[in-house]
Amino acid sequence: MAAPVTVPPAATGLEILIPRQRIAARIEELGAAIARDFAGQSLLLVGILKGAAIFLADLARALPLDASFDFMAVSSYGRSSRSSGVVRLLKDLNEDIAGRNVLLVEDILDTGLTLAYLRGLLEDRSPQQLKIVALLDKVSRRQSPIRADYVGFEIPDRFVVGYGLDYQERYRNLADIRILPDPSGK
Ligand code: 5GP
Repeated sequence: MAAPVTVPPAATGLEILIPRQRIAARIEELGAAIARDFAGQSLLLVGILKGAAIFLADLARALPLDASFDFMAVSSYGRSSRSSGVVRLLKDLNEDIAGRNVLLVEDILDTGLTLAYLRGLLEDRSPQQLKIVALLDKVSRRQSPIRADYVGFEIPDRFVVGYGLDYQERYRNLADIRILPDPSGK
């Protein structure tokens, strides 16, 4: 029988920045920290599609809390690999968040423009508490004064793919987070 394929052929040459075991271990720690802060309360996880879908799925299972999910979608990079600074809401929440504890779940915090927009939008709806968790944080790229309450990993200014993160819709299914050396050159 053939050995199981764990990396799609197109990604075999991409350097691993964060291996799957470190991601899994860090998510357990994040789950414990979040569960401590919201002990005895219910929590609505709001995932930002599509990049945060895999992170949300794993984080939710590391949270011993009464949790529910909802999702939003925004356009950020389109087909380019850098933020245009223009954020457009493509899909709004189904849930009413007034008076609820909300945790915004984002894959990566880069310039901060996307999260600054989303935080403003959600704060206007009067949640009881609004907190942010970002799996990755490119601190050096920040243009908007925003920080996440919980961060998985601070990373350098490299374009990364895998674990939900794409380049032109590819690579989301990689289990490790990898570096795409030259996104614009393919
Ligand atoms: P920001 O508005 O903070 O500049 O960008 C946030 C969004 O940009 C993320 O949700 C993600 O979609 C995208 N992004 C930023 N950096 C990267 C990266 O290194 N790789 C990928 N795949 N997307 C990124």
